[in-house]
Amino acid sequence: MILMKRKMKAAVVVQFGKPLELQEVDIPTPGPGQILVKTEACGVCHTDVHAWHGDWPLKPTPPFIPGHEGIGPVVAVGAGVTIVKVGDRVGVPWLYSACGHCEYCLSAWETVCGEAQFGGYTKNGGFAEYILADPNYVAHIPAGLKSTEAAPIICAGITTYKGVKETGAKPGQWIAISGIGGLGHLAIQYAKVMGLHVCAIDVDDGKLAHAKKLGADLVVNAKASDPVNAVKKGTGGGAHGVLITAPSLGAFKQGVGMTRKCGTCVLNGLPPGEFPTPLFEVVANCITIRGSFVGTRQDMTEALAFAAEGKVKADIELQPLSAINQVLERLESGKVASRVVIDFAKN
Ligand code: NAD
Ligand code: ZN
Ligand code: ZN
Repeated sequence: MILMKRKMKAAVVVQFGKPLELQEVDIPTPGPGQILVKTEACGVCHTDVHAWHGDWPLKPTPPFIPGHEGIGPVVAVGAGVTIVKVGDRVGVPWLYSACGHCEYCLSAWETVCGEAQFGGYTKNGGFAEYILADPNYVAHIPAGLKSTEAAPIICAGITTYKGVKETGAKPGQWIAISGIGGLGHLAIQYAKVMGLHVCAIDVDDGKLAHAKKLGADLVVNAKASDPVNAVKKGTGGGAHGVLITAPSLGAFKQGVGMTRKCGTCVLNGLPPGEFPTPLFEVVANCITIRGSFVGTRQDMTEALAFAAEGKVKADIELQPLSAINQVLERLESGKVASRVVIDFAKN
């Protein structure tokens, strides 16, 4: 029998917008069909900032533990669990669970299942030493990929891998990626692996210098006088695919403007609010505007495989759980270079 502690450290949102509290809480016990994961690493996503502020129409209910890039070994399984076993290394992603039998689940659109639960949002997440998970929806982490390096892949990676595919841009064509943070720096790498020309857009010259190092063929500062025109000029008429990861409404109208005729503008970023759409341009140029929400379990396997093969690598900064409030504040103000990962070996 494994002797386990009864209490764990967790960073808890007790009230929207108030600093997270570092608490000692009970380690959950896996019930039938559930598993318990011992967190080794958990990435910090800008979505955690939105969760902490209660930014979206669908809100989590405080108190809750954010974090949806948690990785670690399974340490206990509940009754009836057969598809994972103790010792397997898994990730507990945003898509925490879905119903498995609605029209969306049956057609590999489980991400939009009406009964979906979200990790670190409607279910407690990875800013804690242990996470309860649904074995049917965890990510399976390839051997050889460190937990700290796998963490950003299970949200930022899968989301942009899917997002790039959803633009429909083909090898040899242009993709414009707006927002080169946690999501965007991985989007550049997936797009390059897929044979696309990449135009990177951000408001920070440091992020753009980094984008160049990652293989971006063209970089544009969105604060420049006319970034839409700069992209149109540099790509010979606009990008065939545009992927907006920026958590800023201003980037959305610009992104639509950067889209080539008959191209697709995919929206990943989720700042609260609405953005104006230039209706005549969208209609007359046959532009598609498409939302994209994380990815399916199959997308997860594929996104992780690129990382395990060394073709995509998250740039990470390790921090202890005790630094979570400073990390969230830095993320909110654009001061995180790529992705901060909470390293539980540091606590
Ligand atoms: P991040 O803070 O790491 O990166 C955001 C980047 O956008 C930064 O580099 C910032 O400088 C840049 N930026 C800010 N304003 C900009 C502008 N006007 N134009 C261009 N770039 C600009 O954030 P992240 O973790 O990459 O998350 C980004 C957004 O994506 C958040 O809103 C998050 O909630 C959302 N998200 C969506 C999904 C999904 O499934 N659709 C999944 C994960 C995250
Ligand atoms: Zn995320
Ligand atoms: Zn369903």
